[in-house]
Amino acid sequence: MSVKTNARTPKSKTKANLNGTIGVLEANPWHQAMLQLDRAANRMGLEQYIVERLRHPKRILTVSVPVKMDDGSVKVFEGYRVQHNLDRGPAKGGIRYHPQVSMDEVKALAFWMTMKCAVVNLPYGGAKGGVICNPKEMSIGEIERLTRRYTAEISIIIGPDKDIPAPDVNTNEQIMGWVMDTYSMTIGYSAPGVVTGKPLEVGGSLGRREATGRGVFYVTRELSGLHGFDLRNSPVAIQGFGNVGMNAAKIFAQHGCKVVAISDVTGGIYNDHGIDVNALIEWRAKHDSIAKYPKAERIDVDQLIEVPCDILIPAAMENTIHHGNANRVKAKYIIEGANGPTTSEADKILSRRGVIVVPDILANAGGVTVSYFEWVQDIQALFWDEKTVNAKLQDIIVKSFRDIFEIHQRDKVDMRLAAFMLGLKRLAAAVKIRGLFP
Ligand code: GLU
Repeated sequence: MSVKTNARTPKSKTKANLNGTIGVLEANPWHQAMLQLDRAANRMGLEQYIVERLRHPKRILTVSVPVKMDDGSVKVFEGYRVQHNLDRGPAKGGIRYHPQVSMDEVKALAFWMTMKCAVVNLPYGGAKGGVICNPKEMSIGEIERLTRRYTAEISIIIGPDKDIPAPDVNTNEQIMGWVMDTYSMTIGYSAPGVVTGKPLEVGGSLGRREATGRGVFYVTRELSGLHGFDLRNSPVAIQGFGNVGMNAAKIFAQHGCKVVAISDVTGGIYNDHGIDVNALIEWRAKHDSIAKYPKAERIDVDQLIEVPCDILIPAAMENTIHHGNANRVKAKYIIEGANGPTTSEADKILSRRGVIVVPDILANAGGVTVSYFEWVQDIQALFWDEKTVNAKLQDIIVKSFRDIFEIHQRDKVDMRLAAFMLGLKRLAAAVKIRGLFP
Protein backbone atom coordinates (compact mmCIF):
# COMPACT_ATOMS: atom_id res chain seq x y z
CA MET A 1 0.00 0.00 0.00
CA SER A 2 1.36 3.38 -0.86
CA VAL A 3 1.07 5.80 1.97
CA LYS A 4 2.24 9.38 1.84
CA THR A 5 4.58 10.38 4.58
CA ASN A 6 4.24 13.28 6.91
CA ALA A 7 6.58 15.43 4.92
CA ARG A 8 4.50 18.53 5.57
CA THR A 9 4.10 18.09 9.29
CA PRO A 10 3.55 21.54 10.73
CA LYS A 11 5.43 22.55 13.83
CA SER A 12 3.49 21.62 16.90
CA LYS A 13 1.43 24.52 18.16
CA THR A 14 0.72 25.54 21.69
CA LYS A 15 -2.91 24.46 21.88
CA ALA A 16 -4.00 26.19 25.02
CA ASN A 17 -2.93 29.75 24.34
CA LEU A 18 -1.08 30.01 27.58
CA ASN A 19 0.62 33.35 27.11
CA GLY A 20 4.02 31.81 27.23
CA THR A 21 3.40 30.06 30.54
CA ILE A 22 4.24 26.68 29.09
CA GLY A 23 7.14 25.82 26.87
CA VAL A 24 7.17 24.02 23.54
CA LEU A 25 7.79 20.58 25.03
CA GLU A 26 5.12 20.87 27.71
CA ALA A 27 2.69 21.96 25.01
CA ASN A 28 3.57 19.11 22.63
CA PRO A 29 1.16 16.18 23.13
CA TRP A 30 3.47 13.63 21.48
CA HIS A 31 6.32 14.63 23.77
CA GLN A 32 3.96 14.35 26.74
CA ALA A 33 2.71 10.94 25.61
CA MET A 34 6.27 9.65 25.25
CA LEU A 35 7.14 10.90 28.76
CA GLN A 36 4.21 8.88 30.07
CA LEU A 37 5.32 5.82 28.12
CA ASP A 38 8.92 6.07 29.34
CA ARG A 39 7.88 6.53 32.93
CA ALA A 40 5.70 3.41 32.89
CA ALA A 41 8.19 1.38 30.86
CA ASN A 42 11.00 2.18 33.31
CA ARG A 43 8.89 1.32 36.28
CA MET A 44 7.83 -2.01 34.76
CA GLY A 45 11.19 -2.87 33.27
CA LEU A 46 9.52 -3.21 29.86
CA GLU A 47 11.82 -4.58 27.16
CA GLN A 48 13.49 -1.78 25.22
CA TYR A 49 12.45 -3.15 21.82
CA ILE A 50 8.77 -2.91 22.79
CA VAL A 51 9.19 0.67 23.97
CA GLU A 52 11.00 1.43 20.73
CA ARG A 53 8.16 0.00 18.66
CA LEU A 54 5.58 2.04 20.57
CA ARG A 55 7.60 5.19 19.95
CA HIS A 56 6.93 4.71 16.22
CA PRO A 57 3.34 4.68 14.97
CA LYS A 58 2.75 1.81 12.57
CA ARG A 59 1.27 3.92 9.80
CA ILE A 60 0.99 7.65 9.16
CA LEU A 61 -1.06 8.99 6.30
CA THR A 62 -1.13 12.67 5.35
CA VAL A 63 -3.78 13.71 2.87
CA SER A 64 -4.66 16.86 0.99
CA VAL A 65 -8.39 17.49 1.07
CA PRO A 66 -9.61 19.81 -1.68
CA VAL A 67 -13.07 21.22 -0.97
CA LYS A 68 -15.34 23.35 -3.13
CA MET A 69 -16.36 26.20 -0.82
CA ASP A 70 -19.74 27.92 -0.99
CA ASP A 71 -18.26 30.96 -2.76
CA GLY A 72 -17.06 28.74 -5.62
CA SER A 73 -13.39 28.74 -4.62
CA VAL A 74 -11.46 25.56 -3.88
CA LYS A 75 -9.64 25.33 -0.58
CA VAL A 76 -7.16 22.56 0.21
CA PHE A 77 -7.14 21.33 3.81
CA GLU A 78 -4.52 19.09 5.37
CA GLY A 79 -5.67 15.90 7.08
CA TYR A 80 -4.08 12.95 8.85
CA ARG A 81 -4.86 9.41 9.87
CA VAL A 82 -2.40 7.74 12.20
CA GLN A 83 -2.59 4.06 13.07
CA HIS A 84 -0.40 3.80 16.09
CA ASN A 85 -0.52 0.08 16.80
CA LEU A 86 -2.51 -2.92 15.55
CA ASP A 87 -1.13 -5.74 17.68
CA ARG A 88 -4.35 -6.32 19.61
CA GLY A 89 -6.79 -5.90 16.71
CA PRO A 90 -8.01 -3.37 14.14
CA ALA A 91 -7.18 0.25 14.77
CA LYS A 92 -9.81 2.40 16.50
CA GLY A 93 -10.14 6.09 17.18
CA GLY A 94 -11.94 9.30 16.39
CA ILE A 95 -11.63 12.07 13.82
CA ARG A 96 -11.02 15.62 15.02
CA TYR A 97 -11.73 18.87 13.16
CA HIS A 98 -9.84 21.78 14.68
CA PRO A 99 -7.67 24.69 13.47
CA GLN A 100 -4.81 23.57 15.73
CA VAL A 101 -4.71 19.91 14.72
CA SER A 102 -1.08 18.91 14.14
CA MET A 103 0.67 15.69 13.26
CA ASP A 104 2.19 15.45 16.73
CA GLU A 105 -1.23 15.86 18.29
CA VAL A 106 -2.79 13.16 16.11
CA LYS A 107 0.12 10.80 16.85
CA ALA A 108 -0.35 11.33 20.58
CA LEU A 109 -4.10 10.83 20.37
CA ALA A 110 -3.55 7.60 18.40
CA PHE A 111 -1.07 6.38 21.01
CA TRP A 112 -3.56 7.14 23.79
CA MET A 113 -6.18 5.13 21.87
CA THR A 114 -3.80 2.14 21.79
CA MET A 115 -3.36 2.46 25.54
CA LYS A 116 -7.06 3.09 26.22
CA CYS A 117 -8.24 0.03 24.29
CA ALA A 118 -5.67 -2.11 26.11
CA VAL A 119 -6.68 -0.69 29.52
CA VAL A 120 -10.34 -1.60 29.08
CA ASN A 121 -9.35 -4.77 27.20
CA LEU A 122 -11.08 -4.12 23.88
CA PRO A 123 -9.73 -6.13 20.93
CA TYR A 124 -8.43 -3.05 19.17
CA GLY A 125 -5.29 -1.13 18.44
CA GLY A 126 -5.22 2.66 18.40
CA ALA A 127 -5.69 5.28 15.70
CA LYS A 128 -6.74 8.88 15.28
CA GLY A 129 -7.57 11.24 12.47
CA GLY A 130 -7.63 14.99 12.19
CA VAL A 131 -8.19 17.74 9.68
CA ILE A 132 -6.80 21.25 10.14
CA CYS A 133 -9.92 23.36 9.69
CA ASN A 134 -12.30 25.56 11.61
CA PRO A 135 -15.73 23.95 11.31
CA LYS A 136 -17.24 26.89 13.24
CA GLU A 137 -16.54 29.06 10.21
CA MET A 138 -17.79 26.55 7.64
CA SER A 139 -21.27 25.88 6.31
CA ILE A 140 -22.88 22.48 6.74
CA GLY A 141 -22.41 21.82 3.02
CA GLU A 142 -18.69 22.64 3.24
CA ILE A 143 -18.33 20.34 6.24
CA GLU A 144 -20.09 17.54 4.35
CA ARG A 145 -17.83 17.94 1.30
CA LEU A 146 -14.74 18.09 3.53
CA THR A 147 -15.84 14.93 5.33
CA ARG A 148 -16.57 13.01 2.15
CA ARG A 149 -13.28 13.92 0.47
CA TYR A 150 -11.26 13.23 3.65
CA THR A 151 -13.00 9.84 3.97
CA ALA A 152 -12.26 9.03 0.33
CA GLU A 153 -8.60 9.97 0.86
CA ILE A 154 -8.18 7.78 3.98
CA SER A 155 -10.32 4.94 2.61
CA ILE A 156 -7.12 3.23 1.45
CA ILE A 157 -6.40 2.38 5.08
CA ILE A 158 -9.78 2.31 6.89
CA GLY A 159 -12.39 -0.47 6.89
CA PRO A 160 -14.44 -2.57 9.34
CA ASP A 161 -11.55 -5.03 9.80
CA LYS A 162 -8.75 -2.48 9.46
CA ASP A 163 -9.40 0.86 11.10
CA ILE A 164 -12.70 2.16 12.43
CA PRO A 165 -13.09 5.94 12.92
CA ALA A 166 -15.52 7.62 15.35
CA PRO A 167 -16.43 11.11 16.56
CA ASP A 168 -13.99 13.35 18.44
CA VAL A 169 -13.68 17.12 18.95
CA ASN A 170 -16.04 18.99 16.55
CA THR A 171 -17.31 15.86 14.77
CA ASN A 172 -20.69 14.28 15.39
CA GLU A 173 -23.22 11.60 14.40
CA GLN A 174 -24.14 13.24 11.10
CA ILE A 175 -20.48 13.45 10.10
CA MET A 176 -20.07 9.75 10.95
CA GLY A 177 -23.13 9.09 8.76
CA TRP A 178 -21.31 10.75 5.85
CA VAL A 179 -18.17 8.70 6.55
CA MET A 180 -20.29 5.54 6.43
CA ASP A 181 -22.03 6.60 3.21
CA THR A 182 -18.85 7.69 1.42
CA TYR A 183 -16.99 4.49 2.26
CA SER A 184 -20.05 2.38 1.36
CA MET A 185 -20.50 4.14 -2.00
CA THR A 186 -16.85 3.47 -2.84
CA ILE A 187 -17.03 -0.28 -2.18
CA GLY A 188 -20.54 -0.69 -3.59
CA TYR A 189 -22.42 -1.97 -0.55
CA SER A 190 -23.36 -0.68 2.91
CA ALA A 191 -20.64 -1.14 5.49
CA PRO A 192 -21.99 0.16 8.81
CA GLY A 193 -19.04 -1.37 10.68
CA VAL A 194 -16.56 1.04 9.08
CA VAL A 195 -17.35 3.79 11.57
CA THR A 196 -18.95 4.15 15.01
CA GLY A 197 -20.89 6.95 16.64
CA LYS A 198 -23.29 6.90 13.68
CA PRO A 199 -26.97 7.81 13.78
CA LEU A 200 -29.21 4.94 14.95
CA GLU A 201 -30.89 4.81 11.54
CA VAL A 202 -27.72 3.58 9.83
CA GLY A 203 -26.46 1.13 12.44
CA GLY A 204 -25.57 3.32 15.42
CA SER A 205 -25.93 2.07 18.97
CA LEU A 206 -28.25 3.21 21.70
CA GLY A 207 -26.25 4.80 24.49
CA ARG A 208 -23.25 5.77 22.33
CA ARG A 209 -23.92 9.50 22.51
CA GLU A 210 -23.82 9.60 26.32
CA ALA A 211 -21.23 6.83 26.73
CA THR A 212 -18.13 8.91 27.45
CA GLY A 213 -19.93 11.06 30.02
CA ARG A 214 -21.48 7.95 31.56
CA GLY A 215 -18.06 6.33 31.85
CA VAL A 216 -16.73 9.46 33.55
CA PHE A 217 -19.55 9.16 36.07
CA TYR A 218 -18.95 5.44 36.68
CA VAL A 219 -15.26 5.94 37.48
CA THR A 220 -16.05 8.86 39.78
CA ARG A 221 -18.66 6.80 41.62
CA GLU A 222 -16.19 3.93 42.05
CA LEU A 223 -13.58 6.34 43.33
CA SER A 224 -16.02 7.78 45.85
CA GLY A 225 -16.73 4.27 47.15
CA LEU A 226 -13.06 3.38 47.52
CA HIS A 227 -11.98 6.79 48.87
CA GLY A 228 -15.00 7.05 51.14
CA PHE A 229 -16.37 10.42 50.05
CA ASP A 230 -20.00 11.29 49.46
CA LEU A 231 -20.47 12.05 45.77
CA ARG A 232 -23.67 14.03 46.31
CA ASN A 233 -21.91 16.40 48.68
CA SER A 234 -18.88 16.89 46.48
CA PRO A 235 -19.09 19.94 44.20
CA VAL A 236 -18.15 19.21 40.60
CA ALA A 237 -16.55 21.59 38.05
CA ILE A 238 -16.56 20.69 34.36
CA GLN A 239 -14.29 22.24 31.74
CA GLY A 240 -15.84 21.81 28.30
CA PHE A 241 -19.49 21.51 27.32
CA GLY A 242 -19.24 19.37 24.19
CA ASN A 243 -20.33 15.77 23.93
CA VAL A 244 -18.25 14.65 26.93
CA GLY A 245 -18.69 17.61 29.28
CA MET A 246 -22.37 18.16 28.59
CA ASN A 247 -23.34 14.52 29.00
CA ALA A 248 -21.17 14.18 32.09
CA ALA A 249 -22.89 17.25 33.58
CA LYS A 250 -26.30 15.75 32.79
CA ILE A 251 -25.50 12.37 34.27
CA PHE A 252 -23.89 13.78 37.43
CA ALA A 253 -26.96 16.00 37.91
CA GLN A 254 -29.32 13.05 37.31
CA HIS A 255 -27.57 11.26 40.16
CA GLY A 256 -28.12 14.17 42.54
CA CYS A 257 -24.61 15.67 42.31
CA LYS A 258 -23.97 19.39 42.43
CA VAL A 259 -22.32 20.84 39.33
CA VAL A 260 -20.98 24.23 40.44
CA ALA A 261 -18.96 25.36 37.41
CA ILE A 262 -19.01 24.79 33.67
CA SER A 263 -17.09 26.37 30.82
CA ASP A 264 -17.01 26.16 27.06
CA VAL A 265 -14.91 28.04 24.49
CA THR A 266 -17.06 31.15 24.95
CA GLY A 267 -16.61 31.49 28.72
CA GLY A 268 -17.34 29.98 32.10
CA ILE A 269 -20.00 30.13 34.80
CA TYR A 270 -19.96 29.41 38.52
CA ASN A 271 -22.67 28.99 41.12
CA ASP A 272 -21.82 27.42 44.46
CA HIS A 273 -25.46 26.41 44.96
CA GLY A 274 -25.28 24.31 41.82
CA ILE A 275 -26.17 24.91 38.17
CA ASP A 276 -29.43 23.57 36.70
CA VAL A 277 -27.82 21.60 33.88
CA ASN A 278 -30.99 21.05 31.85
CA ALA A 279 -31.88 24.74 32.02
CA LEU A 280 -28.34 25.58 30.87
CA ILE A 281 -28.62 23.18 27.91
CA GLU A 282 -31.87 24.89 26.88
CA TRP A 283 -30.27 28.31 27.30
CA ARG A 284 -27.34 27.36 25.12
CA ALA A 285 -29.60 26.03 22.38
CA LYS A 286 -31.14 29.51 22.15
CA HIS A 287 -28.08 31.69 22.74
CA ASP A 288 -25.27 29.62 21.22
CA SER A 289 -23.08 30.18 24.26
CA ILE A 290 -23.17 29.54 27.99
CA ALA A 291 -21.16 32.64 28.99
CA LYS A 292 -24.14 34.92 29.65
CA TYR A 293 -26.31 32.35 31.44
CA PRO A 294 -28.05 34.56 34.01
CA LYS A 295 -28.32 32.20 36.99
CA ALA A 296 -24.58 32.02 37.67
CA GLU A 297 -21.53 34.19 38.08
CA ARG A 298 -19.37 34.69 34.99
CA ILE A 299 -15.79 33.44 35.11
CA ASP A 300 -12.96 33.33 32.60
CA VAL A 301 -12.40 30.13 30.69
CA ASP A 302 -8.98 29.70 32.36
CA GLN A 303 -10.44 30.23 35.83
CA LEU A 304 -12.46 27.03 35.69
CA ILE A 305 -9.45 24.93 36.65
CA GLU A 306 -9.10 26.95 39.86
CA VAL A 307 -12.68 27.21 41.17
CA PRO A 308 -13.52 25.80 44.61
CA CYS A 309 -14.73 22.21 44.04
CA ASP A 310 -13.92 18.65 45.07
CA ILE A 311 -14.11 17.05 41.65
CA LEU A 312 -12.64 18.64 38.53
CA ILE A 313 -13.49 17.18 35.14
CA PRO A 314 -11.34 18.60 32.33
CA ALA A 315 -13.36 17.66 29.25
CA ALA A 316 -11.99 20.05 26.64
CA MET A 317 -8.53 19.86 25.09
CA GLU A 318 -4.96 18.82 25.88
CA ASN A 319 -2.66 20.63 28.32
CA THR A 320 -5.28 22.67 30.15
CA ILE A 321 -3.73 21.67 33.49
CA HIS A 322 -0.05 22.57 33.31
CA HIS A 323 2.82 23.60 35.55
CA GLY A 324 1.51 27.18 35.61
CA ASN A 325 -1.88 26.40 37.17
CA ALA A 326 -1.57 22.96 38.81
CA ASN A 327 -0.73 24.60 42.12
CA ARG A 328 -3.97 26.54 42.04
CA VAL A 329 -6.25 23.53 41.52
CA LYS A 330 -8.60 23.28 44.51
CA ALA A 331 -10.13 19.92 43.62
CA LYS A 332 -9.15 16.75 45.47
CA TYR A 333 -9.94 14.59 42.46
CA ILE A 334 -9.40 15.15 38.76
CA ILE A 335 -11.29 12.90 36.36
CA GLU A 336 -9.91 13.31 32.84
CA GLY A 337 -12.82 13.44 30.41
CA ALA A 338 -10.57 14.91 27.67
CA ASN A 339 -7.52 13.23 26.19
CA GLY A 340 -4.24 14.51 27.57
CA PRO A 341 -5.56 17.44 29.66
CA THR A 342 -2.80 17.20 32.29
CA THR A 343 0.86 17.68 31.39
CA SER A 344 3.56 15.56 33.03
CA GLU A 345 4.85 18.67 34.78
CA ALA A 346 1.37 19.23 36.27
CA ASP A 347 1.09 15.54 37.20
CA LYS A 348 4.16 15.89 39.42
CA ILE A 349 2.78 18.96 41.18
CA LEU A 350 -0.64 17.37 41.68
CA SER A 351 0.83 14.17 43.02
CA ARG A 352 3.00 16.12 45.49
CA ARG A 353 -0.15 17.92 46.64
CA GLY A 354 -2.06 14.64 47.07
CA VAL A 355 -4.57 15.32 44.28
CA ILE A 356 -5.83 12.05 42.77
CA VAL A 357 -5.93 12.02 38.97
CA VAL A 358 -8.04 9.38 37.23
CA PRO A 359 -6.32 9.25 33.83
CA ASP A 360 -7.96 9.78 30.45
CA ILE A 361 -7.19 6.27 29.20
CA LEU A 362 -9.54 4.96 31.90
CA ALA A 363 -11.82 7.91 32.69
CA ASN A 364 -12.97 8.63 29.12
CA ALA A 365 -12.88 5.04 27.84
CA GLY A 366 -16.69 4.80 27.97
CA GLY A 367 -16.90 6.27 24.46
CA VAL A 368 -14.70 3.74 22.73
CA THR A 369 -16.23 0.94 24.79
CA VAL A 370 -19.70 1.66 23.42
CA SER A 371 -18.12 2.19 19.99
CA TYR A 372 -16.91 -1.39 20.32
CA PHE A 373 -20.47 -2.48 21.20
CA GLU A 374 -21.75 -0.61 18.16
CA TRP A 375 -19.24 -2.38 15.89
CA VAL A 376 -20.15 -5.76 17.37
CA GLN A 377 -23.86 -5.04 16.81
CA ASP A 378 -23.16 -3.93 13.21
CA ILE A 379 -21.19 -7.10 12.47
CA GLN A 380 -23.93 -9.29 13.92
CA ALA A 381 -26.74 -7.13 12.52
CA LEU A 382 -28.40 -7.62 15.88
CA PHE A 383 -29.08 -4.62 18.08
CA TRP A 384 -29.28 -4.31 21.86
CA ASP A 385 -31.55 -2.21 24.05
CA GLU A 386 -30.09 0.72 25.95
CA LYS A 387 -30.25 -1.06 29.30
CA THR A 388 -28.02 -3.82 27.96
CA VAL A 389 -25.55 -1.32 26.50
CA ASN A 390 -25.31 0.66 29.75
CA ALA A 391 -25.03 -2.46 31.91
CA LYS A 392 -22.20 -3.87 29.78
CA LEU A 393 -20.48 -0.47 29.80
CA GLN A 394 -20.71 -0.32 33.57
CA ASP A 395 -19.23 -3.83 33.91
CA ILE A 396 -16.21 -2.96 31.78
CA ILE A 397 -15.53 0.44 33.33
CA VAL A 398 -15.98 -0.76 36.91
CA LYS A 399 -13.77 -3.80 36.38
CA SER A 400 -11.05 -1.74 34.72
CA PHE A 401 -11.24 0.85 37.48
CA ARG A 402 -10.85 -1.82 40.16
CA ASP A 403 -7.95 -3.52 38.37
CA ILE A 404 -6.14 -0.19 38.13
CA PHE A 405 -6.96 0.82 41.69
CA GLU A 406 -5.47 -2.45 42.89
CA ILE A 407 -2.20 -1.78 41.06
CA HIS A 408 -2.26 1.83 42.37
CA GLN A 409 -2.46 0.57 45.94
CA ARG A 410 -0.27 -2.51 45.62
CA ASP A 411 2.61 -0.77 43.86
CA LYS A 412 2.10 2.65 45.45
CA VAL A 413 1.96 4.36 42.07
CA ASP A 414 -0.42 7.08 40.89
CA MET A 415 -3.43 6.00 38.86
CA ARG A 416 -1.98 7.11 35.53
CA LEU A 417 1.07 4.95 36.06
CA ALA A 418 -1.15 2.08 37.23
CA ALA A 419 -3.31 2.35 34.10
CA PHE A 420 -0.24 2.43 31.85
CA MET A 421 1.20 -0.60 33.64
CA LEU A 422 -2.01 -2.56 33.04
CA GLY A 423 -2.34 -1.51 29.41
CA LEU A 424 1.33 -1.99 28.56
CA LYS A 425 1.35 -5.46 30.10
CA ARG A 426 -1.49 -6.55 27.80
CA LEU A 427 0.05 -4.84 24.80
CA ALA A 428 3.52 -6.29 25.42
CA ALA A 429 2.03 -9.78 25.70
CA ALA A 430 0.41 -9.38 22.27
CA VAL A 431 3.60 -7.98 20.73
CA LYS A 432 5.62 -10.92 22.08
CA ILE A 433 3.16 -13.61 21.00
CA ARG A 434 2.93 -12.22 17.48
CA GLY A 435 6.70 -11.92 17.16
CA LEU A 436 8.46 -9.99 14.47
CA PHE A 437 7.60 -10.40 10.78
CA PRO A 438 9.38 -11.60 8.67
N1 GLU B 1 -12.84 10.04 20.26
C1 GLU B 1 -13.16 9.16 21.35
C2 GLU B 1 -11.93 8.93 22.21
O1 GLU B 1 -11.02 9.72 22.22
C3 GLU B 1 -13.88 7.90 20.91
C4 GLU B 1 -13.10 7.01 20.00
C5 GLU B 1 -13.92 5.83 19.46
O2 GLU B 1 -15.06 5.66 19.85
O3 GLU B 1 -13.35 5.09 18.65
O4 GLU B 1 -11.87 7.98 22.95
